[in-house]
Amino acid sequence: MAFNYPYALARCAYRQTRNIGRLMAGLPVRTPPLIASTVGEDDAELAIRWLKDRRQWNEEGIVREYEKAFAQWNGSKRAFSFMGGRIALSASISALGLKPGDEVIVPGYTCVVVANALIFAGIQPVFCDIELDTYGLDVSRIEGKMSAATKAILIHHLYGLVCRDYEKLLSLASSRGIPIIEDCAQSTGATFKGIKVGNRGSCGFYSSEHSKIFSTVQGGMAVTGDEQLAIKLEEFQRKAPFPNEKRTEDLLWSMVLDFRRYCDPSRWWRTEVEEMAHGRRPLESTTSAEIQGLRPVNWGERMPAPIAALGLNQLKKIDRFNEARRGAAPQWDSWCNKTGNNKPLVIAESKPVFLRYPVMVKPGQKTSHSWTLRALGIEAGVWFISNLHPSHRNIEGCPAANEAVHRCINLPCPIR
Ligand SMILES: *Cc1c(COP(=O)(O)O)cnc(C)c1O
Repeated sequence: MAFNYPYALARCAYRQTRNIGRLMAGLPVRTPPLIASTVGEDDAELAIRWLKDRRQWNEEGIVREYEKAFAQWNGSKRAFSFMGGRIALSASISALGLKPGDEVIVPGYTCVVVANALIFAGIQPVFCDIELDTYGLDVSRIEGKMSAATKAILIHHLYGLVCRDYEKLLSLASSRGIPIIEDCAQSTGATFKGIKVGNRGSCGFYSSEHSKIFSTVQGGMAVTGDEQLAIKLEEFQRKAPFPNEKRTEDLLWSMVLDFRRYCDPSRWWRTEVEEMAHGRRPLESTTSAEIQGLRPVNWGERMPAPIAALGLNQLKKIDRFNEARRGAAPQWDSWCNKTGNNKPLVIAESKPVFLRYPVMVKPGQKTSHSWTLRALGIEAGVWFISNLHPSHRNIEGCPAANEAVHRCINLPCPIR
């Protein structure tokens, strides 16, 4: 698709008009980015190098190196890369041998792409309510959801927190003889009893989508400690197509533009200018078809060498950035103490990574865009806007999840 200059100009004009409006209202313009992106100038330069020199684009050795480095860093036996956490989930579903007609318990507060990965495999997601301490699956609500068709439980660790019922969920699944899939898309690097999340279930998956803990623009990793499952994951990966050259090129360009969008100090004016200068827009992570629950044409891709190379560079910095995220949380703890808001629960023996700091506010405050600017000088996030974010589809029978949909906002945890 050709770059739409009139539209880009209009967007630029809109953004700067909004900035002028904010300045006139005494509101901040240079707010810390809500997406605390780990993309630095080195990553942008690396992407440009790969764009210029395409000789190694098909080098699978670089992909293997990235997976090995991730597995080692994560304390996992094996890791397999894909073009999204959602694809890593598809791979896990396939590796576990889940079949059409099977049911999987899923938190009723998740990303639409998680439900999609199950539905695309013919599996029925059975939504179960969450708790409001860490926004994880509520173990006390599971009993009524289990049936003879339940073949797995998908748990998640949201916002960088380790979920409250982690151990109880693991032992429940093990007593039923069914596997746990751990969705660690928002919690790469969080630990419980010194072990990184994702390693206690049968399979775990992670995301390097650009708004998550580390970024390859889009990307994901599936891990397992089980050699049989590893063989199946490998098989799934071998059959998966690589993105075509055009898409890989778009991903690399998105890395360059993401640096401007989230990390350049002049980003509040420079973002659109840079996009126009290159005639490029960053790729959207979730297509409108996916939001509607439709399977996109390029669904199910594995990671090519240039993107794995970006991942390798990111891994070198991930610990430093996760420390910074942790360092950003205490300011919000103090704010909660002062205002009487509930702090998110950090369970005993866990070390969260605070991708964002979730807090429940009054219902009207989630939809108002200016109160956090006025009161806190920041833009707040709205994960999740529905039970199946970012679609507008909601689910019945999950009252706590619905409350979070109406009241949970996420405060930024900047890393610079
Ligand atoms: C982002 C996210 C996913 C999907 O990861 P992608 O890499 O975007 O496919 C799954 N689950 C949760 C909780 C997420 O936040």
